Amino acid sequence: MKTDYDAIIIGGGMAGLSAAVYAGRAKMKTLILEKFACGGQILNTDDIENYPGFPEGIKGPNLSIFLQEQAEKFGSDIVYDEVIKLETDSDNKIARTEDGSYSAKSIIIANGGEHNKLGVPGEEALAGKGVSYCATCDGNFFANQSVVVIGGGDAAVDEGLYLTRMTKDVTIIHRRDKLRASNILQERAFSNPKVAFKLDSVVEEIRGEEQVDSVLLRDLASGDTSETSTNGVFIYIGYHPNSKFLEGVVDLDKGGHIITNLQMETSSKGIFACGDIRQYSDRQLGTAGGDGITAALSAYRYISEENK
Ligand code: NAP
Repeated sequence: MKTDYDAIIIGGGMAGLSAAVYAGRAKMKTLILEKFACGGQILNTDDIENYPGFPEGIKGPNLSIFLQEQAEKFGSDIVYDEVIKLETDSDNKIARTEDGSYSAKSIIIANGGEHNKLGVPGEEALAGKGVSYCATCDGNFFANQSVVVIGGGDAAVDEGLYLTRMTKDVTIIHRRDKLRASNILQERAFSNPKVAFKLDSVVEEIRGEEQVDSVLLRDLASGDTSETSTNGVFIYIGYHPNSKFLEGVVDLDKGGHIITNLQMETSSKGIFACGDIRQYSDRQLGTAGGDGITAALSAYRYISEENK
């Protein structure tokens, strides 16, 4: 059956763009469907220090541009649209988007996930008015102001440290008495005079009319509530896979991650998954790139076998 493409890659982050480079170099006709902008999470990351080969680090937005250029250099088409349905009942797999549909012999799912929401009053109403999920995007709006960061993982501490560059001070609010972040990030945060901590505390409400004014906190040890003035609330409490549209198409685990084997094969023939959306992903840039490469090589082997 005639298809539009050899491979459709859903998602233009690190995993998807790495897959596109390898698929393109294998002369597979490749389409990337990306709902927003190529780069994915690294678009929101200022300094990347742990991607091998860059001892001085690299800026996330710069790496995004390099990856996209490399994918395009090897022939990938890119369409900016969101996939809402995947149909796989024949060898001709169809990705349906809001504005069209595209067919391919193989599909590589690489569309990651999204930041978790606190789900407290004020969060939605004040989003973009002081509530943010992206320090690199919004940090400069808070120059010389006070901000809070919610969460205790690597993202919260890393982005909290980034915010110290432009803000007056940063208070990291975490629900437990210990941070989850790696020791090196914790050491940097503890030794930074601009960083303060409120541990054993949860945000009950984000307050403000036109802009964020304060957060209402509850101390989990005493049960007391208190109001802390702040101009910005940066929420970094984890991430969930964007796999709702894949229910019934490929096997998912309880958390919604796609189950794959080491070749990135899913439960459905000719459909591969890579990066943060797959089960047991280490959710690192390097591992996402490796996953993407493996997925593209597997897709290449799959369509070569099919054409025998
Ligand atoms: P994470 O490691 O899952 O941490 C999420 C944090 O949010 C945890 O501290 C968690 O608390 C807290 N949390 C979750 N739900 C919450 C809620 N409803 N209310 C309040 N707090 C809540 O997620 P992440 O920090 O986004 O990191 C994700 C992955 O990316 C990790 O593998 C991380 O290593 C990686 N990453 C690495 C870097 C780096 O190396 N520079 C930077 C960013 C991310 P508990 O601790 O109580 O569970």
